[in-house]
Amino acid sequence: MATIGWIGLGNMGGPMTANLVKAGHTVRGFDLSPAALANAAASGVVPATSIADAVAGADAVFTMLPKGEHALAVYLNDDGVLASAGPGTLLLDSSTIDIESAQRLHDAAAEAGFRFVDAPVSGGISGAEAGTLTFMIGGDAEAVADARGFIEPMAANIIPTGGATTGQAAKICNNLMLFINLAATAEGAVLADRLGLDKQVFWDIASVSSGDSWALRTWYPVAGVVPGSAANRDFAPTFTAELASKDINLAISAAKATDTPLEMGEHVQRLMQRLIDAGEGGLDCSAIVRLVDGTLAAPAAPA
Ligand code: NAD
Repeated sequence: MATIGWIGLGNMGGPMTANLVKAGHTVRGFDLSPAALANAAASGVVPATSIADAVAGADAVFTMLPKGEHALAVYLNDDGVLASAGPGTLLLDSSTIDIESAQRLHDAAAEAGFRFVDAPVSGGISGAEAGTLTFMIGGDAEAVADARGFIEPMAANIIPTGGATTGQAAKICNNLMLFINLAATAEGAVLADRLGLDKQVFWDIASVSSGDSWALRTWYPVAGVVPGSAANRDFAPTFTAELASKDINLAISAAKATDTPLEMGEHVQRLMQRLIDAGEGGLDCSAIVRLVDGTLAAPAAPA
């Protein structure tokens, strides 16, 4: 069994570390939020007092942080992972971040003598809790192969994507599709209701028909249909609108760099921004349904 350092114990890091503990690993976790740290400790994570404390003696270190800027700070600061981890530690960043920041992390880790992989995940907190996430892993082939053993208790699928940053590239494209599907699901759900369809009957049809998607099956934005949906809890976040907006922006930046028109993506980005402008960026991203059902008085998007 391994000793694993973990930085970032939020909505995803919390249940992911719980599965590593269940598999018999020792997990030393750190988070700036005392509440996140206390939750993780309740699942058997050893609470650390700093990044250095979390990574001391670790065989592998995972980071699960909101954005590129957080990952850069956690790895590159004077008291960060690269300055504190022991030689031979395998480093895995599972945050969803921009490709440029991921490349900086690969370069800085290599310069400091570490093996590093970008290893973002898909599957939401339900997948994190069930240990059925999909990991997409970019980096040196040997490091990617070594990463597998540490990832297995958290994953149903572990898919090498190629060289440095290709895991992030896959994740950015996947989430572009996810949020377009979510917006489509929100529109279909509200229209079905206005046409007098029972919400469960319509979901039963769409989930076995051509309107099906992961968003429909997992995040259906109407209360009382899908067990894990944030709509059941007044849109308390499993994946905040702020983070969804970050992910769509990553896709839009990548599209600009590659001269790719993303008309649907840009539209969904405006919807997510309207939620944020209404002061609801901390809600679950599936609350964009409130722009369709009229329960959110958001300012209209500019024409
Ligand atoms: P979250 O905001 O719930 O958790 C992030 C945690 O990082 C917070 O607890 C925060 O306190 C901590 N943190 C921030 N800066 C830190 C620092 N310097 N040192 C220590 N801790 C620090 O976010 P999340 O939903 O767990 O998402 C994490 C990442 O995973 C994001 O990049 C997100 O896009 C991605 N992701 C999320 C989901 C989801 O369904 N929530 C699914 C797949 C991927």
